[in-house]
Amino acid sequence: MHYEGNIIRPPSEANSILLQVTVGCSRNKCTFCGTYSGERFRIKPDSIIMEDIAFAAQYAKRQRRVFLCDGDALIIPQKRLLKILREIQKQLPWITRIGAYANAKSLKMKSLDELKALRARGLGIVYMGLETGDDVTLKAINKGAASERMIEMGKKAKEAGFKLSITVLLGIAGRERSRIHAEETGRVLSAIDPDYVGALSLMLIPGTPLFNDHETGKFALIEPDEMLAELRTMIASTNLTKGLFHANHASNYLPIKARMPRDKEATLNLIDQALAGRIALKPEYLRAL
Ligand code: SF4
Repeated sequence: MHYEGNIIRPPSEANSILLQVTVGCSRNKCTFCGTYSGERFRIKPDSIIMEDIAFAAQYAKRQRRVFLCDGDALIIPQKRLLKILREIQKQLPWITRIGAYANAKSLKMKSLDELKALRARGLGIVYMGLETGDDVTLKAINKGAASERMIEMGKKAKEAGFKLSITVLLGIAGRERSRIHAEETGRVLSAIDPDYVGALSLMLIPGTPLFNDHETGKFALIEPDEMLAELRTMIASTNLTKGLFHANHASNYLPIKARMPRDKEATLNLIDQALAGRIALKPEYLRAL
């Protein structure tokens, strides 16, 4: 397989065939993200992608899922993306699901019918980084879309038939807006009603604008107990009809996996116990991105 630069994928795609169809991220401007810094975004040539699919057809017969890397595969023009999906279906008929990252911009660029056509060709799940539902923070981190647009695009992805997984970032609003960030994120998640929510804890990446703001005292990184309190408020403010709320990423201080709405009260109680010191938080050295 041909890989260039940093390859990242959602935790749930750990066993998937990682097919790199773009290099970098078409936005590459979020102040906290150093994943593709210095990387010029480009769509990989069809010839390379087709070679990789042929390689996977020969050597990846046990893997049931494909994840289209990098940051924003949905930005690929419709015809080319359909061709890639068609080739995966043709050469890897055992694949049960194809996934990709999506953002508000790429979801907006495709019509609902185009998204449905991608769904019909096997694209089954999209992962969207919301980070926060707080408009002030969305602007501060240069996410490129306000909460109303995020809600609109999240609903559009669901209407197209995709499973939708949304990532939010604990600590991203700093100390002053922590509570507002948690409440507003709950509001946006409730409006979208995704299938999965993943809450990650912010880790500052050297070289990013947010890291520099922290160094100069403009941004306050909240403490583990404050992140937990933020998570509590976020879960209390989130009403999903049937989604899974995870906070069990390696970056988190207290692993949580809650089926909503069934586990909501039990999860809030668990966090209260941790906040009261009756459950130990993960030590710093065990956290990782
Ligand atoms: S957070 Fe996502 S959209 Fe923003 S720069 Fe990083 S990869 Fe791109």
